[in-house]
Amino acid sequence: MRDLSAGAGLLSINTATVRKQADLLGIVDACARHGIGAISPWRDQVAAVGLDRAARMIRDAGLKLSGYCRGGLFPATGQHVVQARDDNRRAVDEAATLGAPCLILVAGGLPQFARPGSTPSKDLLAARQAIEEGLAELLAYARQARLPLALEPLHPMYAADRAAVNTLAQALDLADRLDPGGSALGVAVDVYHVWWDPELYAGIARAGRARILAYHVSDWLVPTKDLLNDRGMMGDGVIELQRIRMAVEAAGFDGFIEAEIFSERWWAEPIETVQATCVERHRTVV
Ligand code: ZN
Repeated sequence: MRDLSAGAGLLSINTATVRKQADLLGIVDACARHGIGAISPWRDQVAAVGLDRAARMIRDAGLKLSGYCRGGLFPATGQHVVQARDDNRRAVDEAATLGAPCLILVAGGLPQFARPGSTPSKDLLAARQAIEEGLAELLAYARQARLPLALEPLHPMYAADRAAVNTLAQALDLADRLDPGGSALGVAVDVYHVWWDPELYAGIARAGRARILAYHVSDWLVPTKDLLNDRGMMGDGVIELQRIRMAVEAAGFDGFIEAEIFSERWWAEPIETVQATCVERHRTVV
């Protein structure tokens, strides 16, 4: 298990963690000041400052990327099918321009939530079929761009509106079917989404180095007051962070550890406070 106590070189900040405090330029500046090794930017934050400018500012600051957020949201009907395909291809191209190691994919749930305007449905099995088909099509494009796709299973509380891929085993089954023996399609292991899963450790071992393309940390607060925006700072909740990291690293993962905290509580703090706290928790409890 890697020693994180010395500094923040292996820490990445998912830029949504401080999205209310600064634009991408401000976030990059703050990360560089704190000695943070990488960021994982969101598409809207990149678009707000311009893709080429974003790529340049990240490079000039000496930061690496641990991912690019995000593509996916596959289930759709009518004209939204083509829009989803084109939008995902643009996301692949942007990730390649930025030099990201992977594009993070959130699968999408029922079509009316994945791509608003689509015909409403309650057919979760059909949504999962649409996910597999959309993923297969995007994978062909991403292979040509040499850009790995990291499918992120989300906690089942999001099955309807965000992702009908809900466990590591489910994501790995998709990867094995669409990319047998390869590493063009892998997974993002986010402790917030998978910590509860009785099959978590078996899934991490099964995924191995080839499939684990990203590792995201935060914490599970009890009680959780908001389904989306009440994630905890690492160490403030009940997730056995070091145990999970030990398993992920034993499986061969040697990338950045990405702090991804959607939290009204932390969005209300100055960016310096959030980043300093992420660094301190990274060194002590992650
Ligand atoms: Zn995540």
